[in-house]
Amino acid sequence: MTQEEVFKNLIAHAKEYGFIFPSSEIYDGLSAVYDYGQMGVEMKNNIKKYWWESMVRLNENIVGIDSAIFMHPRIWEASGHVGAFNDPLIDNKDSKKRYRADVLIEDYLAKLEEKMNKEVEKGRKKFGDSFNEEQFRATNPNVLRSKTKWDEVHQRMTEALNQNDLVALRQLIIDCEIACPISGTKNWTEVRQFNLMFSTQLGNISDESGIIYLRPETAQGIFVNFLNVQKTGRMKIPFGIAQIGKAFRNEIVARQFIFRMREFEQMEMQFFVRPGDEMQWFKKWKATRLAWHKALGLGDEKYRFHDHEKLAHYANAATDIEFEFPFGFKELEGIHSRTDFDLSQHQKFSGRKMQYFDPETNESYVPYVIETSIGLDRTFLAILSSAYTEEKLENGEERVVLRIPPAIAPVKMAVLPLIKKDGLPEKAHEIMNTLKIDFNCQYDEKDSIGKRYRRQDAIGTPFCITVDHDTLNDNCVTIRYRDTMTQERVPIDALRTIMDEKVNLRSLLGKL
Ligand code: ATP
Repeated sequence: MTQEEVFKNLIAHAKEYGFIFPSSEIYDGLSAVYDYGQMGVEMKNNIKKYWWESMVRLNENIVGIDSAIFMHPRIWEASGHVGAFNDPLIDNKDSKKRYRADVLIEDYLAKLEEKMNKEVEKGRKKFGDSFNEEQFRATNPNVLRSKTKWDEVHQRMTEALNQNDLVALRQLIIDCEIACPISGTKNWTEVRQFNLMFSTQLGNISDESGIIYLRPETAQGIFVNFLNVQKTGRMKIPFGIAQIGKAFRNEIVARQFIFRMREFEQMEMQFFVRPGDEMQWFKKWKATRLAWHKALGLGDEKYRFHDHEKLAHYANAATDIEFEFPFGFKELEGIHSRTDFDLSQHQKFSGRKMQYFDPETNESYVPYVIETSIGLDRTFLAILSSAYTEEKLENGEERVVLRIPPAIAPVKMAVLPLIKKDGLPEKAHEIMNTLKIDFNCQYDEKDSIGKRYRRQDAIGTPFCITVDHDTLNDNCVTIRYRDTMTQERVPIDALRTIMDEKVNLRSLLGKL
């Protein structure tokens, strides 16, 4: 099965088992907006908790806030979003479909890459063990032709984007003979800039001055509260402010399931430091954040840093943590050294001092900021896509299992009476009633025990606790492990401790 087919199965599975539903489905959906179902919301909350506790509880100098989505419109002028939070878009005149010009070109580049890879695979088959990929890539005329084209197009695209040259961007689309995937024609409009912020109107003001925006990032809510938190929390630099919340972007290209949505959640932390200390903290946060990801156990090889060559005007260092999604390595988290840009801009636009008096140096200054910004939904997708496994068992049967880290799994354990009589359901309920105070559990007595195990595998429940006839005499139950399907007999009295050790967030936080 191809990666693409597995990904399609994963999306269908996420819907069938209550993780993620397309928004407004009975009205045929709303593009790039999704709802989290009964399983999804539990898992999402667990991810949030893992992030929050790792930031706010484990770091004595980081506190959290929850700022409003609506903010004064001047904030978005100060931050640069009104002027420059744009994507270059182009319309196909025949299909009336709108595309991101740079994405059309990137897709073209990806096709060239695919062509080169196919050629390499052909060579590998032909030459067998004696195949030398590096040499092949350096000498095969077909590969070389594609590579020359790739380099040329990539260079032209980068230059056009860096110089904000929309005419050059359009010319590149024409020169590459890129056609609209829907109409198949090359009948393109000019390339225009499109602002990604959603706007709406305050109720009591009818003219332009009443326009406000849905925040496109949570960070500005932290910056404008910098002094409130610093003063009321008596925070001393270096210190951080963390926040989890919704952000909204009118993305032109919305695809790849929950990877790119128009309404999504961010988990952001702004760390305020002394000017000059920022590189040291940037390095530290890079390492800290990678360790956080790796502790999830999805596979160390699935992460890589992608340092930005071209920096935003306010940044003096930036990197992405990329994750290997089913559609390739893509950004999961950004770590940025934002200098004093945001606080200085707010100082300028609001006329209020955004300075910190440093008792150690006896100086006042606008602090520098290191930002860590991670998409909650992308983290969800990273975990779900790594967890999703279609397995053939030794007995020839197949199962779909979600190998979600136990601390993140929506349901921690299922309590199952072996059969629906002989006092087993009563005993199982008794066990369930004590466990549910500490853990999210499910009780299930319908169908054969095998079917019930499969249902729990499909939602990623790490443990099934089976109550059988012996339980009534020996007060022991069987724990069945999701990943290995092995079973272990344990006393009921020990269940809480055993389970706690395996599913508590401690199992992740302890690794940091
Ligand atoms: P991209 O280049 O993929 O559009 P970005 O560089 O614009 O992302 P940031 O502004 O750095 O993203 O936002 C921080 C994080 O927020 C990203 O690393 C990502 O995980 C998440 N994020 C950004 N846009 C979206 C979106 N449309 N849907 C879901 N998550 C998003």
